[in-house]
Amino acid sequence: MRHVAVIGSGPAGYYTAEACQKKFGDAVRVDIIDRLPTPFGLVRSGVAPDHQSLKAVSRRYEKVALADNARFIGNVTVGGQVSIEELLGLYDAVVLATGAPNDRPLGIPGADLPGVIGSAAFVGWYNGHPDFAALDPPLDGKAAVVIGNGNVALDVARILAKTRAEFEGSDIVGRALGALEGSSIETIYILGRRGPHQIAMTPKELGELGHLERASPRVDRADLPPEGDDALLEPGQRKSVMLLREFAAIPVWAAGEKPVTIDFDFFAMPVAIEGDGKVERVIVERTALDERQRASGTGERYAIDCGLVVSCIGYTTPPIEGVPYEPERGRFANDDGRVMPGLYAVGWARRGPTGTIGTNRPDGEAIVRLIAEDVGEGAGKAGRAGLDTLLAERGADVVTFRDWQNIEKAEEARARDGSPREKFTAIEEMIAARGY
Ligand code: NAP
Repeated sequence: MRHVAVIGSGPAGYYTAEACQKKFGDAVRVDIIDRLPTPFGLVRSGVAPDHQSLKAVSRRYEKVALADNARFIGNVTVGGQVSIEELLGLYDAVVLATGAPNDRPLGIPGADLPGVIGSAAFVGWYNGHPDFAALDPPLDGKAAVVIGNGNVALDVARILAKTRAEFEGSDIVGRALGALEGSSIETIYILGRRGPHQIAMTPKELGELGHLERASPRVDRADLPPEGDDALLEPGQRKSVMLLREFAAIPVWAAGEKPVTIDFDFFAMPVAIEGDGKVERVIVERTALDERQRASGTGERYAIDCGLVVSCIGYTTPPIEGVPYEPERGRFANDDGRVMPGLYAVGWARRGPTGTIGTNRPDGEAIVRLIAEDVGEGAGKAGRAGLDTLLAERGADVVTFRDWQNIEKAEEARARDGSPREKFTAIEEMIAARGY
């Protein structure tokens, strides 16, 4: 029997557990440990609430969790109630699938002013993550600045721009929906330090900005490279750039019919954030690209007045004591997933914050191939029985997958009309609902 512990119940964790089940069948026991009482990581608290179809993948993870050879152990913190060292003593393989939940720091003067928020916090707020449910972002200014040219920047801009009716069918938490409804933001600036050809936005997500009820995208034609240069792009990127060209062609009168503008500001690098006790403006420097497409400042600066800044510039994995770490890349030090004997990393904790949910599937399969090579038939370790004894001794209040299914039913029962669920945003509320 092989005993495997997976730390983190997001996509990387579940695909690893699923790959274990496929590879070892009944000769494996997998424990999926999460610090929250709720499973699914980014699928629950990262994927945008108005992208429900992407969340359907959780049904697949449910099958994994309900099989006899896997368990979900929620509300248990590794590094708190149990250490990595202890897990390495109990399991043949311990897999770090902890994702990258921390914001990469902006690192410019004024980045710590109130009203400057990282995307992990902002996205966590509207998705009801218990760490950020009480965020209360300032939405009373006339403008917001979103920093970054990736899909997270698009999510944030779209959520800021939508009307209540456009959230129909989503599971945005009620508190965030109410706050957004009262927002006075009229301009959302999306700052890219490079140009249209360097965006990291996918066509489906970018295209959504062209169909919003009260917001219109704006792109300055002068920022677009000659159309012939698009031929050099790979097809997906070419499609995205075509959309930017369509946005640039929207006549001023048509855009003016909508009260909110989403303004793409390219070649625009934020260099400072200023304000008296809270954010009041972002100082931006124009950039030019060198032959390797890297941005550098031209010295030309201007200010954008705003009451909110959301930086969407990527994430890092928090270090865990005793686990080798690469601070400059913000992830665990690993050799294709091997961290040290018995310890592995998978998903964003292994490769950094890139790729879609599906990218984690081959990642999980690859790590299980390594585990198969390294652990053979298993070393007769204590596995789940050993963990249960340890957690009982420490008075841990474990939330099982069956408990989670009750929490889920309770969330569905209290949903507002047209919404699949109203999430609990406090850990105590979640735990209380397991008896539902
Ligand atoms: P991302 O795709 O890596 O984009 C990060 C952006 O931040 C880039 O445009 C980058 O510009 C910019 N940036 C980095 N440091 C900066 C700085 N100091 N100042 C200004 N700009 C800076 O990351 P993400 O948007 O967080 O997305 C993470 C992953 O999740 C991606 O793979 C994404 O596709 C995926 N995702 C997918 C969906 C979806 O499929 N619906 C939704 C959300 C996220 P440079 O290029 O110049 O470095």
